[in-house]
Amino acid sequence: VVLKVNTCGVCGTDSHIYQGEFLVRFPVVPGHELSGEVVEVGSSVTHVAVGDWVTVDPNIVCGVCPYCRVGQINLCDNLHAVGVRMDGGFAGYCRAPAKQVYRLPEGMSLLEGAFAEPLACCLHGTDRAGLRAGDRVLVIGGGSIGLTMVQLALAAGASHVILSEPSESRRGLGVVLGATAALNPVATDVRGEVLELTEGGADLVIECAGTARTAEQAVACARKGGRVLFFGVAPEAAIAELRPYDIFLRELTILGSFVNPFTHQRALEALAKGRVKVEPLVSHRYPVAAFEEALAMSRSPQAVKVVVQPSLEEAAV
Ligand SMILES: [Zn+2]
Ligand SMILES: [Zn+2]
Repeated sequence: VVLKVNTCGVCGTDSHIYQGEFLVRFPVVPGHELSGEVVEVGSSVTHVAVGDWVTVDPNIVCGVCPYCRVGQINLCDNLHAVGVRMDGGFAGYCRAPAKQVYRLPEGMSLLEGAFAEPLACCLHGTDRAGLRAGDRVLVIGGGSIGLTMVQLALAAGASHVILSEPSESRRGLGVVLGATAALNPVATDVRGEVLELTEGGADLVIECAGTARTAEQAVACARKGGRVLFFGVAPEAAIAELRPYDIFLRELTILGSFVNPFTHQRALEALAKGRVKVEPLVSHRYPVAAFEEALAMSRSPQAVKVVVQPSLEEAAV
């Protein structure tokens, strides 16, 4: 399926690819959070047609490795992705294997469609973590992923959704989106505050900042018997200090989460019904020609979500 790209979100992975820190074969066009309008389909494609608005699940699995064979497709030994090893969405047009292409539900905007991939990854994380109604949840890190997790926790019926984030504007957005408390980790003792607010610790801590220190903090803020989800992508060499005795004594469950197995369709459902709002997360938009600027902005604390929209190019011409 060939689509005319409408929106492609900038993600941390794109920076890693750009800096050559990721196993990619250059040249490659990055961009794996994309939506667009179908302009061409292969002769045996029947589930989408020219003119349809679609989103792409970028992660392509082999179907025959030992992990695929038992349904753990995100752990596929031969995983590759649109925008990582194949050309992706930071371009006017993108070609994707038909089975990776999903039609947007009625009434959904193309901007929303571009968030299906990151939301699908978050859904796999909250599935893994067993997010439940009544949970007291702490989300560490208030970027677009953290603020998506805040909304998923609320949608699931969490009783407390506490956000820890140093940027004041992001904390403010967290509260607007429904966080029950927003803590500034630079100015407050996060663990002390969380223990007080939750009367003993969070049932579930979702780490979305991706640093060794916040990983340690995540473990420290969980209650006895609590769950800790490491969702933020830490630098490969980062090392956190964990006391095995503490994990043992407090019977903690520590979980990882990687990409989006079988959650892309659910992400579309949640977006279509407004359970997760993504438009407030968009802080900056750039044309493809300003890609370096978009990348730099995506790393700045003033940004929440940066998107690239090729139509901004046409508008500028
Ligand atoms: Zn991404
Ligand atoms: Zn496989």
